[in-house]
Amino acid sequence: MHFNLKYLINKFEFLIIINKFRYMKNLILASSSSVHGSEFLEYLKPDLLQFFNQTKELLFFPYARPSGVSYDAYTELVAKFFMPLGIKVRGIHKASNACKAISNASAIFIGGGNTFVLVAKLYEMGLMDELKKVISNGTPYLGTSAGSNICGVSMNTTNDMPIVMPDSFETLGIIPYNINAHFIESDKNSTHRGETRETRIKEYHEFHHYPVIGLKEGSWLRVTSDKIILKGGLKAFLFQKDKDVLSCDTNTIF
Ligand code: ASP
Repeated sequence: MHFNLKYLINKFEFLIIINKFRYMKNLILASSSSVHGSEFLEYLKPDLLQFFNQTKELLFFPYARPSGVSYDAYTELVAKFFMPLGIKVRGIHKASNACKAISNASAIFIGGGNTFVLVAKLYEMGLMDELKKVISNGTPYLGTSAGSNICGVSMNTTNDMPIVMPDSFETLGIIPYNINAHFIESDKNSTHRGETRETRIKEYHEFHHYPVIGLKEGSWLRVTSDKIILKGGLKAFLFQKDKDVLSCDTNTIF
């Protein structure tokens, strides 16, 4: 039998590369779904076009919205944005088997709202493990705000009020950080006496050690298996236990 060793090695290398891509995390974790003066997701459109260029259908989770907007209306808003991009949006609330819908999804989007409500629902429905599995295996994932918070180690650094009690504050841990979405810097001249965002994050570090990324509206993290990159043209802030706050420029790799 004749072996072409070079051919076999090339084929082997090719399979390794393919496998790497197959199991490559692929996420956009945005601080917010919109920025001042622009419509829902509009500021992210150029990046979303590229990010979802292989996606025909998106599984959307409207669970974070506690009032005002129904699951259907929230899903409708998302569908209206994605339709012109050639992407059909399906609300997970319509699926007869939510866990199966996650396993079969070609891409996932979890929108913002109240993080406690979102996390409580995901635990109640037993969806955390499946979500973690598919995201870790490369299903493209878009998170905005609460949907980004849940990709951190825990939801302890959300800005939301604890209006319901989830089974746990532990979240997906897709990145080894916690997120503080809608981050605002302290204004030294402010007359406001409530805790600044920085103070609240410092308080978190009295009890926990995970670093926290304060992400301003208009910023997002582009996450792949080997990198977490800050995008959006704005500074973000990295808070680490017992260390000074680090101001990070856009394109910083975490
Ligand atoms: N309420 C935010 C959201 O829009 C989450 C947060 O501020 O932590 O999802």
